[in-house]
Amino acid sequence: MGKVLEVIRVSKRFLGLQALKEVSLHLEEGEILAVIGPNGAGKSTLLNLLSGLLRPDSGRILFQGQDITHLPPEARTHLGLGRAFQIVQPLPELTVRENLLVGARFGKPQVRQKEAEAWVEEVLRLTGLERRAEALAGELTLLEDKRLELARALATRPRVLLLDEVMAGLRPKEAEEAVALVRRIRDAGVSILFIEHLMPVVRALADRVVVLDYGEVIAEGTYQKVAQDQRVREAYLGR
Ligand code: ADP
Ligand code: MG
Repeated sequence: MGKVLEVIRVSKRFLGLQALKEVSLHLEEGEILAVIGPNGAGKSTLLNLLSGLLRPDSGRILFQGQDITHLPPEARTHLGLGRAFQIVQPLPELTVRENLLVGARFGKPQVRQKEAEAWVEEVLRLTGLERRAEALAGELTLLEDKRLELARALATRPRVLLLDEVMAGLRPKEAEEAVALVRRIRDAGVSILFIEHLMPVVRALADRVVVLDYGEVIAEGTYQKVAQDQRVREAYLGR
């Protein structure tokens, strides 16, 4: 298994605040990696650097071996780096299917309409949104919204999917369904890096966990390993 995504000694400063300090981590092909850490640890900053919304002060980001450090977000999406946001923003006046077509056209502009349509049907099936395909995006339940958000990211045909607290606000039963969905997405060949503060979700989903605290990686390994790590325990207790 190769590295699909590689973060090499990346630093980011906001005015006087060092949000990330020489952070290095990687995502393996076919892996589900969780990035966790207390509030303010730098998780969202890391995701923004990966998706191209921010540029690092130093360090490099490689996607499938290619240096993408200075590529804009759309170019990253075209290469196969997809992102689903914590705040759900589909186009409410369009149907679920139409929203996914927009995503598919955006992700792979060179692909023909017929092919994009076929891919959208596959995404609808995978995400369990088939029966809601004709519903307006603006009239979905919270759980359906989350499904649509994942589906929209999938519609861009990513090799790697970045998820920022997509389980936020879900009830435990709904979170279980969302966990199963993320597994299906991985099984369909997508590597996943996710940020999550719900520990049961991290335990259920992550093959490996990277822990950030004050912008630095303080632990890395299986959930069991990092949960027992003294620095990790102190980082969480300290807040
Ligand atoms: P997390 O997502 O782990 O809670 P963030 O990445 O959002 O952490 O933030 C890391 C640190 O950087 C925090 O101290 C936060 O206040 C600061 N920060 C994040 N974004 C900005 C910004 N645009 N301007 C100034 N400070 C920021
Ligand atoms: Mg955050």
